[in-house]
Amino acid sequence: MENKAIPYGRQNITDEDIQAVIATLTSDYLTQGPKIVEFEAAFAKYIGSKYAVAVANGTAALHLSTLALNVKPGDKVITTPITFAASANCVRYCGGEVVFADIDPTTYLLDIRSVEKLLASAEKGTFQGIIPVDFGGRAVDLQAFRKLADDYGLWIIEDACHAPGGYFIDNNKQQQRCGNGEYAELAIFSFHPVKHIACGEGGMITTNDKALYQKLLQLRTHGITKVEDEYTNSIQFAGGTDSYPNWYMEMQTLGYNYRLTDFQAALGLSQLNRADDGIIKRRGIAATYEQAFEGKSFLKGQSKVVEGHAYHLYILEVADRLGLYNHLRNHHIFAQIHYIPCHLMPYYRSLGWKEGDLPHAEEYYRNCISLPMFPTLTEDEQKFVIEKIIGYYSV
Ligand SMILES: *Cc1c(COP(=O)(O)O)cnc(C)c1O
Repeated sequence: MENKAIPYGRQNITDEDIQAVIATLTSDYLTQGPKIVEFEAAFAKYIGSKYAVAVANGTAALHLSTLALNVKPGDKVITTPITFAASANCVRYCGGEVVFADIDPTTYLLDIRSVEKLLASAEKGTFQGIIPVDFGGRAVDLQAFRKLADDYGLWIIEDACHAPGGYFIDNNKQQQRCGNGEYAELAIFSFHPVKHIACGEGGMITTNDKALYQKLLQLRTHGITKVEDEYTNSIQFAGGTDSYPNWYMEMQTLGYNYRLTDFQAALGLSQLNRADDGIIKRRGIAATYEQAFEGKSFLKGQSKVVEGHAYHLYILEVADRLGLYNHLRNHHIFAQIHYIPCHLMPYYRSLGWKEGDLPHAEEYYRNCISLPMFPTLTEDEQKFVIEKIIGYYSV
């Protein structure tokens, strides 16, 4: 069978999406128009946060978050090595120091015990923040992290790029949606095509903190404000007599142009309508994989179906990973590795990190492989993937 290529993740663009983008392209606004505001409001509602700020991409969302929380040269921030490099790099953009803590080998998430050990081993005030990642779509228990952060006076940025629509169950048995702002100061999302919602490029920051929200709005557009109450120059300077003229604005801090365009927001908004449907499909695919691989001898580990998992990725830890990876490629199945541990990237090695520093993350990396996981993966395609994997190990 000559099958068409099956990637590990793929966007799904419908006619409705295309019509939404076209409608915006022919409207009066290409950037920062009504679709941005609509997308932000709908996303905040979906996630359960008070505020949302749309930005150019997930990396910009992380950068603005570290800026809004005043990360300064020398500040120390803890994150996981099993993530996309941007989760750590945002600290470096502000001159801060990234301190990686190890993962929990059963959940693949930042291990709270490892973070606790780091915090307890240093004087209070040594660390400023934690960036936990809802890796693969599995929600971090942020209630536990909040308590630890409060004990040490730290802020939390939740990197929820993999988990819009995911949730964890808190101590009161309530669902806590990823990015809802209940336990973290800020949460960030990406709308890169492999993520749940695609804008081409795009990102979002969610928060329940009004002051941080206002700061983010300014930083997104060059540090400029058009809010009269915030002006510090005089009315006379602004060219008015008894009020500020309409043209007036002030650049008050050093910001950036990290805006999303209106037609990207239109695409995001249209995609958001199908987000829940996508998660249901992803959970179904995960359940099918789990059933198919149950008890197999080549398994060294498996991402377990747990409540609230948003399944950005479906990960196995296997024997002979390279062999399996190549075998799948020969059948046009493009599995992927998530991730090469961040602390062992040459850039972070140059800052002093080395092999052996984070044994659980490094052991996980040796065997992990991400299988095709996206809402439009067909039953036949998934069957084909499963067959090829089981077939590889039974010869
Ligand atoms: C995709 C991703 C980012 C960065 O998002 P971009 O939109 O690609 O800049 C950050 N963190 C994680 C965990 C991601 O998966």
